[in-house]
Amino acid sequence: MLQTYNTYSLEQEEFQPLQAGQIKMYVCGPTVYNYIHLGNARSAIAFDTIRRYFEYVGYKVNYVSNFTDLGDKILAQGEKEGLTEEQVAQKYEAAFDEDTAQLNIKPATVRSKATEVMPEIVDYIKNLVDQGLAYESEGDVYFSAKKSPDYGHLSHQNFDELEENAAGRLDPVEAKRKQDPIDFALWKGEHREGVKAWPSPWGPGRPGWHIECSVMIQKYLGSEIDIHGGGIDLAFPHHTNEIAQSEGHNHERFVRYWMHNGFVNVNNEKMSKSLGNFTTVHDLLANGVDPQALRYLLGKTHYRRPINYSMDTLNQAQIELDRIRRAYQALTEVQASEKGEDLTIIGRLDEMETRFREAMDDDFNTENALTVVFELVNLVNQYSKEDKQQETVITALQKKMTDWLAIFGIVDLLGQDQLNETEQALFDQRAEARAAKDFAKSDQLRDQLADLGITVRDTSQGQKWERKQAY
Ligand SMILES: [Zn+2]
Repeated sequence: MLQTYNTYSLEQEEFQPLQAGQIKMYVCGPTVYNYIHLGNARSAIAFDTIRRYFEYVGYKVNYVSNFTDLGDKILAQGEKEGLTEEQVAQKYEAAFDEDTAQLNIKPATVRSKATEVMPEIVDYIKNLVDQGLAYESEGDVYFSAKKSPDYGHLSHQNFDELEENAAGRLDPVEAKRKQDPIDFALWKGEHREGVKAWPSPWGPGRPGWHIECSVMIQKYLGSEIDIHGGGIDLAFPHHTNEIAQSEGHNHERFVRYWMHNGFVNVNNEKMSKSLGNFTTVHDLLANGVDPQALRYLLGKTHYRRPINYSMDTLNQAQIELDRIRRAYQALTEVQASEKGEDLTIIGRLDEMETRFREAMDDDFNTENALTVVFELVNLVNQYSKEDKQQETVITALQKKMTDWLAIFGIVDLLGQDQLNETEQALFDQRAEARAAKDFAKSDQLRDQLADLGITVRDTSQGQKWERKQAY
């Protein structure tokens, strides 16, 4: 039985979805004002691995996520780069798509942007005001935190602790407008020159940061969802405020399982702008880091534990990944010489599958699951060296390796940039067709490659390919 740790109860609980066989999952995405850093990537990878495991064991996962595509961080970046808020958001949304594709993170089922749900945001806030849970104050709207009986539960803080913390970081203008220091903004009046504002019953303005997630969840998944994920730093205030908004709006439980991933440290130090160790995926990949090794490094540690990124841990990840790849490669070179089926090996694979699933069912214990993966690697290495091999066993071993590693987002088992001759020829022809602007031909070649299980994407650096996964 699959169990998952719930930040809300601080306990590991049996996982029971709202609807059998289906999972409604929401994970907070980034504010698109810069390239994603290792912390963003770790969160996306942790929940991608969890999603892939759910899919592997037969669930249909509806995975929704957001881009926060407006706000002061984006405006400030726009000033630096000479771009509008919209241009900054577009630039870094595209960069997010590119970086996450390199890390082989599946796209969300629905990815929504804050600016796309503005009418719904205004209606949602209006509902909270009408119910007396929120109030207007000089063009802003605030949520009365104390009207949410559960407020602070997720971060395990009581009202006294919350008040003490709030007092220290209160903006003086907001302090005058708020009835209570722990109240939080749903809407902020906007009157700055050249800054876009949206119409609302409280005058032109912009939404607070927390409201978009409640609104998107309502719109795309409904009032109650199975899993809400994000970094542990989001538990307060962001997720705490989402609970207040959504449960205030719907009068029912919002999330069954709250899941939070741990931090990424760089050379054993917290990653921060002031320490100058803010590491982006874009820079690492531009410097030649193997995206699959980076993915492997960020996915192998249990999702709740901290990860240390350093040259040493990256090298170690590369060594482990290469060991996996070498075993797989050796297996593909084996020529079967016997018919029939070695039942001892098939039996061992079934037994390993049981232990692999036990590890993943135990709150997605990727570390223990990888111990089983390396047992499989050893078995594959042994088998490849035997005198005689059977086709059925080779196929079973290959399938087990590709299936399990795909859960970790590792699909490049033959190493990078290794298409076979036919695939490479088609790929090169397509590059030529595109250069000659023969798009009919390039589309036809793309289809041919797709039939061979190769997905081709066009990027600013030319065409890239990906081998389709086992499921
Ligand atoms: Zn959120």
